[in-house]
Amino acid sequence: MCGIVGYLGERQASPLLLEGLKRLEYRGYDSAGVALFSRDNGGAQFEIRRCKGKLVNLEEKVKNAPLPGKLGLGHTRWATHGSPTDENAHPHWSENVVVVHNGIIENYLELRQQLVEAGHEFTSATDTEVIPHLVEYYFKELGDMEAAFCQAAKRLKGSFAIGMFSTHDGDKIFAAKNRCPLILGLGDGENFLASDIPAILNYTRRVIILEDGDCAIVSKDQVKITDVDGNARKRDCKQITWTAAMAEKGGYRHFMLKEIHEQPEAVMQTLQGRVDQSEPALTLEEVDLDEQLLRRLQRVVIVACGTSWHAALAGKYMLESLARIPVEVDLASEFRYRQPILDNNTLLMAISQSGETADTLAALDEAKANKSPILSICNVVDSSIPRSSNYVFYTHAGPEIGVASTKAFTTQLVVLYLLSLQFAQVRRSLNSKELQRHLDDLIHLPRQMEEQLEREEEV
Ligand code: GLU
Repeated sequence: MCGIVGYLGERQASPLLLEGLKRLEYRGYDSAGVALFSRDNGGAQFEIRRCKGKLVNLEEKVKNAPLPGKLGLGHTRWATHGSPTDENAHPHWSENVVVVHNGIIENYLELRQQLVEAGHEFTSATDTEVIPHLVEYYFKELGDMEAAFCQAAKRLKGSFAIGMFSTHDGDKIFAAKNRCPLILGLGDGENFLASDIPAILNYTRRVIILEDGDCAIVSKDQVKITDVDGNARKRDCKQITWTAAMAEKGGYRHFMLKEIHEQPEAVMQTLQGRVDQSEPALTLEEVDLDEQLLRRLQRVVIVACGTSWHAALAGKYMLESLARIPVEVDLASEFRYRQPILDNNTLLMAISQSGETADTLAALDEAKANKSPILSICNVVDSSIPRSSNYVFYTHAGPEIGVASTKAFTTQLVVLYLLSLQFAQVRRSLNSKELQRHLDDLIHLPRQMEEQLEREEEV
């Protein structure tokens, strides 16, 4: 989720980038940054400002130390890998390559390992940082930036919208997309890159919507689109007639409607890196659930409020039927007043979209006092509830604006399903054939959701 903006042309880029980021504010963010390319007598160079927190922090930073340049990239981050800190904020860079990224690079650990062995040094905990290093690596091998960029894009597994520039081949922005939104805005003697139309609507209404597998090489008066093997792809330019308010909602009448349609993407992102599609097998190392604990547990108590409480009720069905473990579900607001029976063989599971629900936090204190291990399911990386838990399983739904929950709820169900399968695997309540069948079902879920949403009119 979150936002990308890019500009190259004749104007100073940084005010434009900051304005674009502001227009993507509704997408939510936990940190922000900009990078500017420029030339002086010393040659091509880049400068970066980035920081955690609200966009005003970044604006302040840029005001105190302005960034000259007519080509640049901006980013607002919604963390998936690594806490929201200054070091993890985008842009990320290697020696000569600067990248902003939206999405999840599923094979980043494997790529990072390879790059470290080749002598690359990493400074953040993000999945994103492998991208600039990978491009740099291929540039050294191939000596051509377009080829290096496409080759790097070819190696990436997962979801991404990428904006990149390099001092090796200045005056160009490189972009690639797979399962995350990315558009190009076409101007006169200037071009734009963005996650979403509102970011550029003040400057142009001529837009190319990139498709999965596209690589774009953008200069100020030209755009070239290819696949990752360098074969030309043809994309039509659209004239946008939406108002700014409509554009924010992606042409939908309400944020809620937009978010209903974002469910397949959110579910897919939540499954990414957790289910190995080729096997299929569960890969939940990231949650790091201790197998001995899973075997020893006698009971699970789920605490949550509102929508998350409804997800918990469905979770009880899943855990009990698949993993054969008794589950109680409590409204977090009642929990601490009823003298609950807790011990270290009872897992307290907390579900909260924001990770800041006060009653759920209070329930965690109760669990801690009774030495119960705590596992939380949250959508906001490093928020208070994950920070107070022993184990965390993130949903990757991105920010949700609609008041009635849609994609945050469905991704919670997916996580509960995955956890039930993990429990079942360790406690041997399902045999491997049954497990495979459930995983197969999960893998097909995003496509099936898409098929149902395509029947919207009929329904
Ligand atoms: N996975 C990347 C990160 O955690 C990008 C997240 C995003 O889309 O903002 O930094």
